Amino acid sequence: MPRIVVVGSLNMDLVVRASRFAQPGETITGSAFLTAPGGKGANQAVAARRLGADVMMIGRVGDDPFGHALRGGLAAEGLDVRHVDVTPSVSTGVALITVDDCGENTIVVVPGANGLVSSADIERALPVVAEADALLLQLEVPLPVVMSAARRAHAASVTVILNAAPAQPLPPMLLPLVDYLVVNETEVLDVAGFATDTPEAAARALQARGARTVVVTLGAAGALLLASDGTITSADGFRVEAVDTTAAGDAFVGALAVALAEGATPAEALQFGNAAGAVTVTRPGAQPSLPTRAAVDALRASRC
Ligand code: ADP
Repeated sequence: MPRIVVVGSLNMDLVVRASRFAQPGETITGSAFLTAPGGKGANQAVAARRLGADVMMIGRVGDDPFGHALRGGLAAEGLDVRHVDVTPSVSTGVALITVDDCGENTIVVVPGANGLVSSADIERALPVVAEADALLLQLEVPLPVVMSAARRAHAASVTVILNAAPAQPLPPMLLPLVDYLVVNETEVLDVAGFATDTPEAAARALQARGARTVVVTLGAAGALLLASDGTITSADGFRVEAVDTTAAGDAFVGALAVALAEGATPAEALQFGNAAGAVTVTRPGAQPSLPTRAAVDALRASRC
């Protein structure tokens, strides 16, 4: 079993459906409400776990019902939650999502406890981090924490995988610590900090800034990988009927981490990631839509 450590966010998504958005000062009646566990860190951790990895999560929740539900949910999935700290006097991270009848949404994210994840949390978990096959990072916890986790893992020769989402400019010191940088096509510009003509050009620009291998996800079209020797591997997406693309990227990244930790080739890892992303888009929601290994293998086997 590959051992993967995820440092990242846990959010409760609070989703409201209404015929239209409320204007400032206005109250309207919505038609439905649901809560669902989310946060890129937790989503990717669950993805990797369902695909067969031994996963430890490092993060924080508030000492409130959402926090206990999120932490308990990860434990029930079989994740190691020793280092998901329950932090008093701060709320659990939440995303307030309104979806209108046209399928448009507005989202307010309150990081809450995710904003208090600290470098000391990484130090406490260091013995497990140093023994992992891969460390998986995103950008929903403070950047200095991402930096120190990457630095610690790099020093211990643990493969560092950074999903640069939500996209933001990255400190120059970070990319040289990253073995695999994963960015989606629409956000690559924000990460690279300038416009490029093609995903390949963006990948090369990010590699020039220190990332060893760069992976760009291309939605339904699949993904491409720029290896450290400059070669490009691309893999077509699987053709499926998409009903909800939420968490497709998280499924892809979790799957990529598992495949790489299992010693897959770049082509195999991309294909595995694409299959995980494709299964996810056929199902509604974030964590509930993340596939098991059996579902991913079945989709892969269906393509000759
Ligand atoms: P994000 O979810 O971060 O916006 P993408 O849209 O690139 O990222 O999706 C991530 C991966 O999920 C893609 O590389 C692909 O493998 C898969 N995927 C996304 N949308 C589809 C789709 N409509 N059909 C099949 N696979 C998809």
